[in-house]
Amino acid sequence: MIALTPHLHVHSLGTVNVCFALDDDGWWLIDTGMPGSADAILHAAASLGQQPTGLRGIVLTHHHIDHAGSAAELHARTGAPIHAHPLDAELIRRGIPARETLRGGPGIARRALMALGGGSMPRAYDPAPVAVEVEDDGSVPALGGLRAYHTPGHSAGHLAFLSARENTLIAGDACANLLGLDPSFAHEDFPLARQSLARLATLVFERACFGHGRPIVHDAQARFRRRWA
Ligand SMILES: [Zn+2]
Ligand SMILES: [Zn+2]
Repeated sequence: MIALTPHLHVHSLGTVNVCFALDDDGWWLIDTGMPGSADAILHAAASLGQQPTGLRGIVLTHHHIDHAGSAAELHARTGAPIHAHPLDAELIRRGIPARETLRGGPGIARRALMALGGGSMPRAYDPAPVAVEVEDDGSVPALGGLRAYHTPGHSAGHLAFLSARENTLIAGDACANLLGLDPSFAHEDFPLARQSLARLATLVFERACFGHGRPIVHDAQARFRRRWA
């Protein structure tokens, strides 16, 4: 677990990260990992002093199985409403792991998904009821207001979130920081993803965290500008 700020924690589930946002009246979860991650997530939340009954909302950056895979179970166990962009909410409600149009290098997207699935391509995840649709420029009432940015390309309904109060960008899979700040391994539409990254590079933030890879804890905006502006 990495504390980006006292209120924002990034937790690695192995291949993918989730974020915990802590408020005085409860906590929020950003992304939910692969299917079967609920116990690990609730255990990590408990280590931060947070109980399942205190979960105020589940926020999904996009519909991919490594982010939405445990949303249904976490919703069932906590009652917390699931938030997502309408374009991906459609697929989350049907448990679709990735659109057919998701492409990396030759076979990369498929191989990566197979690796996440332990060798076999995960075909579906439990459909999850998205209760709150979040559009571009919308906000989620965590951390005094998380501003949503529709950042399509990796996925048509991808959302990134900016916490002005915590001075942190939650980038999801808009990009990754595995061997350095790089595009995600696969995209539905790469030129569109680059446009989304150029937009994120105009925002003001000190820190950034990602679905895959380590957070950047200083000067993250300058790194984004150098890479994507
Ligand atoms: Zn993804
Ligand atoms: Zn991912």
